[in-house]
Amino acid sequence: MTLETIKFFLVIGIFSLLYFSEQLFPYFASRKHHLSHSLRNIALGLFNAIISLMLLFTLLESAEHWADIRQFGLLHHLELNTSVSIVVALIIIDLWQYLWHRMNHQIPVLWRFHRAHHCDSEMDASSAVRFHTGEILLSGLTRIPLILVFGLSIEHLIIYEIVALPVILFHHSNLRIPASLDRVLRYIVVTPHMHRLHHSDRQQETDSNYGSLFSVWDRLFYSFQSQPLSEHFKLGLGPAYSEPDCNSLGGLFALPFAEKNHTRR
Ligand SMILES: [Zn+2]
Repeated sequence: MTLETIKFFLVIGIFSLLYFSEQLFPYFASRKHHLSHSLRNIALGLFNAIISLMLLFTLLESAEHWADIRQFGLLHHLELNTSVSIVVALIIIDLWQYLWHRMNHQIPVLWRFHRAHHCDSEMDASSAVRFHTGEILLSGLTRIPLILVFGLSIEHLIIYEIVALPVILFHHSNLRIPASLDRVLRYIVVTPHMHRLHHSDRQQETDSNYGSLFSVWDRLFYSFQSQPLSEHFKLGLGPAYSEPDCNSLGGLFALPFAEKNHTRR
């Protein structure tokens, strides 16, 4: 079984498990459009996966080949065994994910794309794949210097996704888990309570908890926030981002070009 096949079945399995668990133990119980919301996000996720495969895969493979034949990049010189090199690669990629996510909040042109992810006011596991295609392509292109500088392989990138995607699906889910369990898990990984704050409609909360897999980066770079700043807590980006901007595929695709919504940054 190839790594891509493992990733495909793992994502389907974890998503299905979370989808049904969210119905039984929801954190926000008053949601109205669960199925249509999930189908829209999944459609966008599938579209992005196909576009990435068509436009990015060959570029990434070429970068890996170029670095490989020249023994270019950090990992080619460290002479680590396979297991250690995988752990080092996971740390490098996850640190980059943290920095890239933070840049998406701080650089206005990147925020234009990233807000398609944040204007989701009914977050659930399907929100984990709700990204503007432009953000996916930009993010994919940043993997090229990552491959060249650190000598990463395509396998490293896929293994990272196999490890990180279950955590990312989990922390976007609307699953109610005990606060005590969340507190323990967040010592290592990004949890639903932690990431929910990142999806708050208050900018001070949105600009925190940028981690994807490991929670250590937020602690290390002073962006960790454990509790909401007030009792008021709402998901999304507020009234400026209402229908149809955020509740239709057409609206989401057009969002980076909508001038009226720039007041938040
Ligand atoms: Zn974000």
